[in-house]
Amino acid sequence: GAKASGRNCARLFDPNDPQSSDESENIAALLKIAIDQRLVSLVYQPIRNVVSGRLDAVEALMRLRMLDGTSVPPSLFIPIAERTGAILELGRWAIRTACTELLIDEHVPVVSVNVSPIQLRSPGFAASVAAILGETGVAGGRLALEVTEGLELEMHSDILRCINDLKTLGVRIWLDDFGTGFAGLSWLRLIDFDTVKIDRSFLHDCNGPKGKVMLRDIIGLVRNRGHKILIEGVETEEQMTLMRQCRIDYVQGFHVGRPAPAQTFRLAPMGDARPAALAKPN
Ligand code: C2E
Ligand code: MG
Ligand code: MG
Ligand code: MG
Repeated sequence: GAKASGRNCARLFDPNDPQSSDESENIAALLKIAIDQRLVSLVYQPIRNVVSGRLDAVEALMRLRMLDGTSVPPSLFIPIAERTGAILELGRWAIRTACTELLIDEHVPVVSVNVSPIQLRSPGFAASVAAILGETGVAGGRLALEVTEGLELEMHSDILRCINDLKTLGVRIWLDDFGTGFAGLSWLRLIDFDTVKIDRSFLHDCNGPKGKVMLRDIIGLVRNRGHKILIEGVETEEQMTLMRQCRIDYVQGFHVGRPAPAQTFRLAPMGDARPAALAKPN
């Protein structure tokens, strides 16, 4: 499966793998031409600072369109891109695109881009980020890279070295989907993340009293280690109130805004609250 093969960098497609259905082979083929044919794009979702109310950052999320115009969700195409190795080129494309279509605009303070562990382990990744920052003239501190904890994210000295090189460039390193895997705690011990994003399942499971205790425990753990805390998946005003009570630093979710094309964020300074424009689905 995708998780197991994530251990080997850029492994080629295995026809004996039961996951290699026709559909995934089609997507694998599509991914090879996706950049040239402009089938991939980025949408951006705002991140709100709970205390100031300002939009301090946006997260870049990749979109893939098939030749007939239908779209493929990232939960489907990202694992395939990881399995075939296409993620290396797509990942560089995403960072470059975030820099050229959004960070060019001084109004946008920070853009975060998701990176796969395969990228962090591939030789020359930090150098390619340095090259993109140099070419686009974007300061490293305005780029954040989101690393997802997962089974395949076993501690690896190459990854640690890569993260240190990125930090030297000023790039921020965030931990994504915290609480969904077993590796998260050891990652917190080894890497000084700027921000930890707590997976939206904790918020969605916290309707009962037990769920709330879980959420408070996980918030306490992250806060005691000195990281900024972002909660993902905030959808209602009620959840927003809970976030204020829990003194969460940042929130992201449909309540703040849906993912939208770059131009949505270039219309006005990011600090402006523009819920009407941002609430529109992409
Ligand atoms: P993620 O990094 O945790 O991104 C957040 C996901 O939650 C996005 O799904 C976003 O649209 C969705 N979301 C945001 N707010 C809410 C909310 O209030 N409620 C609900 N139910 N969902 C919300 P999306 O865009 O489908 O992306 C799914 C995953 O695919 C991402 O999870 C990320 O792990 C991966 N992904 C997306 N783009 C990239 C990329 O450029 N590179 C890599 N390596 N992975 C990517
Ligand atoms: Mg993310
Ligand atoms: Mg992610
Ligand atoms: Mg996440």
